Amino acid sequence: MVTLRDDNVTPPRVAIIGAGAAGLMAAVFAARGGAETLLLERTSEGGRKLLISGGGRCNILPSEVDESRFVTDSSANSMKKILRSWPLSEQIDFFEKDLRLPLEKEAETGKLFPASQRARDVRDAMLSDAQAHGAKLYSHAFVTGLEPQEHGWRVQLANAPALEVNRVVIATGGLSVPKTGSDGSGFAFARKLGLKVNITYAALTPVTSNDRRFHALAGIALPVEISASDSQRSYSARDAFLFTHRGFSGPAVLDVSHILVRSQDEGRRDARMYVNWTSLDEEEWTRRLDHARSGTVLGVLRRELPERLAEALCVHAQVDPARTLSQLRKDERRRLLDALLRCDLPWSGHEGYRVAEVTGGGVDLAEVHPKTMECRKHPGLHFCGEVLDVFGPIGGYNFLWAWATGRAAGIGAMECVAQRHQVTKARD
Ligand SMILES: Cc1cc2nc3c(=O)[nH]c(=O)nc-3n(C[C@H](O)[C@H](O)[C@H](O)COP(=O)(O)OP(=O)(O)OC[C@H]3O[C@@H](n4cnc5c(N)ncnc54)[C@H](O)[C@@H]3O)c2cc1C
Repeated sequence: MVTLRDDNVTPPRVAIIGAGAAGLMAAVFAARGGAETLLLERTSEGGRKLLISGGGRCNILPSEVDESRFVTDSSANSMKKILRSWPLSEQIDFFEKDLRLPLEKEAETGKLFPASQRARDVRDAMLSDAQAHGAKLYSHAFVTGLEPQEHGWRVQLANAPALEVNRVVIATGGLSVPKTGSDGSGFAFARKLGLKVNITYAALTPVTSNDRRFHALAGIALPVEISASDSQRSYSARDAFLFTHRGFSGPAVLDVSHILVRSQDEGRRDARMYVNWTSLDEEEWTRRLDHARSGTVLGVLRRELPERLAEALCVHAQVDPARTLSQLRKDERRRLLDALLRCDLPWSGHEGYRVAEVTGGGVDLAEVHPKTMECRKHPGLHFCGEVLDVFGPIGGYNFLWAWATGRAAGIGAMECVAQRHQVTKARD
């Protein structure tokens, strides 16, 4: 019986393309398993998205996961299988015990952050662990192509001779925030190899509006309930909403933005976005707007809402904010209730990949084995992270996906090569 640690056996060579979240996790597990691990990163250091994540604090994981909040056009079952391969509790243990990176739960959101509140500590802990197990990081290593060989892969680089390796892990991310290094290379590699790549789109991106009445509210933030839907799909969220100079943002808007993006990309523009601005229900608002009560409409609304928003909602509902409740007509009350409970926000577009936190769409999950993330059509090729057709809402979900798939790909690449080495050795 031969193990990888035997001196007679050359360790398998695994090239990981991209030293972002998923690539670093793949490197940790491939290197820990004994593979000669080469991390090929086109930027000067890698992990740039990790460094800017969570406003520089890195929302590393959620404290609870609702699988139904992930979005994919691939099989939901395959997605769940992959997610369950590394449960949340084990991921938390890995960071806290293996990487000695204590995590802290933010009370009001339930999001987990490194206790140091420094995204850099997450990136550094992963990179150090991979390097301590022998992984080598090659920066400014821009992979331009991949060619399957008889017993492995040839990896072409922009400014260096091609590399011959046993296994390749594609961890190139998507198209979002290109200045972090993601340029969609992984999609191009996959397409060239004949794999199914589902249509990609910007997700978790701010929404724009031409309605100047709302621009004037820039800076106002409040917790809301939001939903977006069109003839094809829907999504809803409960989180913070932020008015900006160009439209709407905040986690609530980012979470539902893909519905608007897709309806625009598909040329329909039939998506609508509805907001419930407060926690009061219809019965309670009806009671508060009762004509028998005293006071003005604005007076009632501003008890629950920032004053400028209360005024804007009156204008939106075509009701004079100074109108007294006793003068309020039935149709005006109806329009006010609509504006308060299901405000149909006018949107004109979105901010796109430039600031989108993730890319929706990507390599279809049917192309990979859920356990090893190995490509069914091309043995020796693995995928992980955002290049795959899955993303989740704000709250640490996207790192959860990157960690689970990165680990599976790292172990998969290392174990698959190990098995081949064992067979070869046994034959010898
Ligand atoms: C501003 C912002 C904040 C975010 N905050 C959070 C958060 O707090 N919590 C959360 O869960 N998610 C967050 N996300 C999303 C999260 O960062 C991504 O889901 C995650 O980084 C995806 O990991 P990845 O490794 O697949 O891709 P990336 O992290 O994008 O890494 C891909 C890497 O591959 C490299 N690369 C690409 N092509 C090549 C090539 N041809 N050759 C060599 N190298 C290549 C790139 O340079 C890059 O380093 C945030 C995203 C943004 C933009």
